[in-house]
Amino acid sequence: MKKVFTLLLFTTLSIFFAFSQDFAEPIQGEGIHAFLRRNNRSESGYYQKFLELNRDKLGEDQSLKLGISYQLPPLVKVDSIVKPDSKTNTTQQTTLGTGTEPLFGEKSAKYEIMSDRLKGACFFLVSGHGGPDPGAITKIGNIELHEDEYNYDVMLRLARNLLQEGATVHIIIQDSKDGIRDDKYLSNNKTTDPKDNQETCMGEKIHQGYDKKDVIKRLNQQCNKINALSKKSNAKYQRAVFIHWDSRPKSQSVDIFFNYSENNAKGKQLANTLEKTVREHYKKSQPNRPYKGLVVHPNYHVLRNTTPISVLIELGNMQHEGKDRQRYLDSDNRQAIANWLCNGLIKDYNDNK
Ligand SMILES: [Zn+2]
Repeated sequence: MKKVFTLLLFTTLSIFFAFSQDFAEPIQGEGIHAFLRRNNRSESGYYQKFLELNRDKLGEDQSLKLGISYQLPPLVKVDSIVKPDSKTNTTQQTTLGTGTEPLFGEKSAKYEIMSDRLKGACFFLVSGHGGPDPGAITKIGNIELHEDEYNYDVMLRLARNLLQEGATVHIIIQDSKDGIRDDKYLSNNKTTDPKDNQETCMGEKIHQGYDKKDVIKRLNQQCNKINALSKKSNAKYQRAVFIHWDSRPKSQSVDIFFNYSENNAKGKQLANTLEKTVREHYKKSQPNRPYKGLVVHPNYHVLRNTTPISVLIELGNMQHEGKDRQRYLDSDNRQAIANWLCNGLIKDYNDNK
C-alpha cells in the first residue's frame, strides 16, 4: 500500500510539475522578448505563439503585467523535424537543426534553424564604431551610454535571426564578452577594459588612434575583411549591413533610415525594401504613427569600399529623450528592430536570388 501511495504521489507531482512548468511570471521591467528568453524560448517563433496564448492578459502596447502568470508556448523539440502543414503552418514550428555562436553570449549562443528561407544568402554584419571609438555618447543622469554598444546588440540580434532562417553570417566587429544583452543601460566596460581591447575586427586588434586617417584605417580594416571573405564565398547573393545610431540635437527625433551608395541600383533596391518593410511593420503595430524612413545616399566610405552590395542603417537619435531613447533602451524594441530588418532582408533575397 505504501508503495502504491508513493507511486501515486510521485505521479501526481510529475503531472503537477509538467503543468506548472508552462506558466511563469514576469519580473519588473521585463518585455515579452526578454521574458521568453529568460524562459528558454528565445527563438522568434515563440513570440507569435505567446501572443495567441496570452492576448487577454497583456497590458497596453503588449506589455506584461507584474503578478500575472503567463502561459509559455510549448518548447519545440530540437532535432524533431515537424513537416510544415500548408494549412496551419503559421502556428507550426519547423526545426531544421541547431547551431551555436558563442558571441551571442551564454543564454543565446544556441539557436534553432527554423527555416531555409535564407539558405544560400551570405551576410556581412558590421556594428558601427568599436575599439577606441565609442561613436555617439549620451548621458542619462550619471550613466554614460555609448552608441557602439547599442549597435552591437542590435547587430547580434539580427545575426541570430538570419542564422535561424538558414543564412551564412559573418560578424565583422566582435566582442568576446558582450553577448546579446537585455539590459536597459548597456555597459561600455570602460572600467574593466579602458581601451576596449575586447572588441576586435574578427580577432584582429582594431586600429587605434583618433586622427581622421585613423578613422579611415579602421573603416578600411572592416572593408578589407568583408572583401576578402566575399571573394572566397560562393554565394551569389551577398549583402553587407552596417548598423548605427545617429547623433543629432536632442530635440530631434529621427526614424530608422537607410543609406545606400550612389549609383548602386541593387543597393538602392535593398535600402528601399528595408524602408518599406519597416513602414509596414509600423503601420501594423502603431497605425497612427507617421513613418518617414528616408532613403538617402551620402558618399559613405564603407558603402563605396565594400565589394558586396551594402546598406548603412541609422536606427534613431541617441541624444533624443523621447521615443528614440525608448527605441534603444528597451531590449524588446531592439529585438523588434532586428526582426523587422530580418524580414526586409528575406524580401530582398527573394527578389534577387
Ligand atoms: Zn555611428
